[in-house]
Amino acid sequence: MERKARPGQRLCEEHEIKYGVRVTSRDSIGEPTVAACRFCLYFGRQIKSDRARSFANQVKIYEAPFRMDNFVQHNRLHHLDHWITYMELDANQKKNYFPNTPPPSNIQVAFPPKRKTIDSKAMDLSGIEQEPKQKQIKIDAITADELLEIERKKHSLETEMLKKELELKNIQIITSTMLARQKMIESGVPQSEIDSILPLPIKTTNDAINI
Ligand SMILES: [Zn+2]
Repeated sequence: MERKARPGQRLCEEHEIKYGVRVTSRDSIGEPTVAACRFCLYFGRQIKSDRARSFANQVKIYEAPFRMDNFVQHNRLHHLDHWITYMELDANQKKNYFPNTPPPSNIQVAFPPKRKTIDSKAMDLSGIEQEPKQKQIKIDAITADELLEIERKKHSLETEMLKKELELKNIQIITSTMLARQKMIESGVPQSEIDSILPLPIKTTNDAINI
C-alpha cells in the first residue's frame, strides 16, 4: 500500500541528529508527529533581551509536517552559540553533545501557534513531570477593563438588534392590518365596522422596552 505523501519532510533519525531535535510522539504507523528541540530541553534558549527572558525555559515543539528550515531558523535564533559549535561536529559527536540525563524539570512546552492543543500526555519527554502551570499557554494579555469594554459593546449591540427586530415586527403588524382594512374598504364594508373589527394599530414605542 502506498503511503500518502505529506507536505514537508519525513523526520528520520538522521534529521534528529543533524538538527538537534527529538521525536516525542508518533502516530499509529510510527510516523513522527511531534518533535522537541533538544537545545531548548538541555540548555534553554539564549537570552538576547529582557523580553526573551520570559520564555527562556520554553521548549520549542515542532509538529508534522516538519520543515527542516524551521529547525535551522529556530536554532540560529535561539541557540546561536550552540548551533555554530554543533554544526561543525560529526554525527557521533552530535549524539554525545546533549547530556545523557533526563532534561531539567523546570522546562515549559511552547507549542506552535494556531494549532490545536496536543495531548501533552502523549508526549514522551523522558518521563518529566510537567506541572499544570507549565502547560498553560500564555495568550496575549488582555486587561479586565478591556474585557469589560468588549462585553459592554456586545451587550449594547445585542440590545440594538432586539430593538430593531421588534420595530420590524411592529411594521409588519401595521402593514398587514392596513392591507386587511384596504380589502374590507374595497369590498364595501362600512368604515365604522372596519374600525370596530380591525382598529388602526397603535405603534408601540421602543421606550416601553427596557432591556
Ligand atoms: Zn530550541
